[in-house]
Amino acid sequence: MASPVESILVHEHVLVDFAGADVAGPDRYDAEEVFRTALPKLREVRALGCVRLQECTPAFLGRAPALLRRLSEAAELDIWTNTGLYAAREHKHLPRYAFDEPAPRLARRWVNEAARGVEGVRPRFIKIGVNRHPLPEVDRKIVLAAAMTSSHTGLTIASHTGDGRAAGEQLEILASAGVAPGKFVWVHAQNEREKRYHEQIARAGGWVEFDGVGPKSAPWHRECVTHMAAQGLLGRVLISQDSGWYRVGEPGGGAYRGYTSLYTDFLPLLDPAWRQVLLWENPRAAFG
Ligand SMILES: [Zn+2]
Repeated sequence: MASPVESILVHEHVLVDFAGADVAGPDRYDAEEVFRTALPKLREVRALGCVRLQECTPAFLGRAPALLRRLSEAAELDIWTNTGLYAAREHKHLPRYAFDEPAPRLARRWVNEAARGVEGVRPRFIKIGVNRHPLPEVDRKIVLAAAMTSSHTGLTIASHTGDGRAAGEQLEILASAGVAPGKFVWVHAQNEREKRYHEQIARAGGWVEFDGVGPKSAPWHRECVTHMAAQGLLGRVLISQDSGWYRVGEPGGGAYRGYTSLYTDFLPLLDPAWRQVLLWENPRAAFG
């Protein structure tokens, strides 16, 4: 069992609703039931030393800041929420205005959320999602809006990204907006099988996040992390589980995966000295 040293999980979920932007909303679930379901899972990982959990569910996919704050207080664990929009999954989770408004207008919405809060909670990072390379026009606009938001707020962008070339394309968009690569986190980098892309994004100054850590995926995740360490790039790597969550629309929220397997099953496979880098120093450097 891992010792309870303080740690940060940069990519997890409490609640997700895949119904689509036209449908998803708080009327589709019972917040009390979600609270009761999620709380023991959060307490369990708190006991293993997790002091901050970054909840990566974007708006129109079940983002629920007030509920997260209640859970945060009850579990005595910092839970961060986000601003931004998710263009992945073929734009099903984008509201109409995302297609109509230009990037600066979208950025203004997100800057306002960061400044004023959503349901009384200030988003602490930007979460977007894009499709595969070459990125469709609306995806490129979302990335540009995220870059503009980042330059106004200083917030870091975590981007659900399908492949290494799409990650490179996004770094170019950031550069065109004068945003440093260190403000970009390539989410789901484990889905890119060619490790040269992991290296490329890290060497360019971006963050490479291997976030689907679970019992089945452990050998591949270990291989990815070990490869980066061998290249001297451990300082650009993030790990998390992309775990959870209460599934809106399923009875009782479906099969909620907890947040502990990274601690109990994955960390023991790594060099013990990496724990502090991967779960503390790098998350703080990437997100503040
Ligand atoms: Zn996720």
